[in-house]
Amino acid sequence: MTVLILGGTGEARALASALDAAAIPILSSLAGRVQRPRLPVGSTRIGGFGGPDGLAAFLTERGIHAVVDATHPFAERISASAAAATAAAGVPLLRLERPGWTAGDGDRWIWVDDLDGAARAVAESGAERVFVTSGRQGLAAFAGLADPWFLIRCVDPPDVALPAHHELRLDRGPYTEPGEGEIFDDHRIDLLVTKDSGGPLTAAKLTAARERQVPVVVVRRPPRPAVETAATVPEAVAWVRGLASTG
Ligand code: NAP
Repeated sequence: MTVLILGGTGEARALASALDAAAIPILSSLAGRVQRPRLPVGSTRIGGFGGPDGLAAFLTERGIHAVVDATHPFAERISASAAAATAAAGVPLLRLERPGWTAGDGDRWIWVDDLDGAARAVAESGAERVFVTSGRQGLAAFAGLADPWFLIRCVDPPDVALPAHHELRLDRGPYTEPGEGEIFDDHRIDLLVTKDSGGPLTAAKLTAARERQVPVVVVRRPPRPAVETAATVPEAVAWVRGLASTG
């Protein structure tokens, strides 16, 4: 059986390694959004499928037996496409999604629905030095904010309008607590903006914010198609093994 892994996340790479080690044939798919993607082990293809119809045709043509949608919690379109295409092609689908973050003692989190909401929250907060870690896409939401200074961190340079006062920091993590603390202190950050990406690789900024009593604007995850979901790589491996043993 060949398993198509819709990737672009650390979990997708870990799943590819685990299934490859178990000698289960895999094909990982990446959007091709970043210039130098971290590639998983095993076969990889890069680029969109052409919507749900294109993905359904791909599943049939390539004889894919199962799909694991391990894309990022904020990658809405590909997940919707995976749900529609697997239903149309009669291929089993599992969503692998890491749990979101939860606030702990000392956290000062402001939840918002989207990046426009985040921009409004920044304006209302009166913050002067804002650390934005919500990724390259959607940064235009902050472009109209003339007063605060922004430290914008993303993997590749953004191609949208940015706020008047900003510094760009190109980096891809994973990030450490001392490293994140240094950024907060060196730039006198008084507000952090993040998506609720979840997972340990980018969580150090939340600890840095908590330790400094810096408030955090957290963008809620978008709604998802109702599909069978696993929270961890071992759970996803067990799902694939279950299919292999019954199919
Ligand atoms: P998106 O809005 O859901 O996807 C836009 C289009 O890109 C999809 O319709 C699809 O094109 C193509 N695409 C997305 N993921 C793909 C994949 N794994 N393989 C093949 N085609 C894919 O996604 P996005 O938010 O732009 O994210 C793009 C990729 O970056 C995802 O793979 C995601 O895991 C990763 N990522 C996203 C974020 C984030 O914050 N959004 C953060 C980290 C990593 P077609 O319709 O033509 O098939």
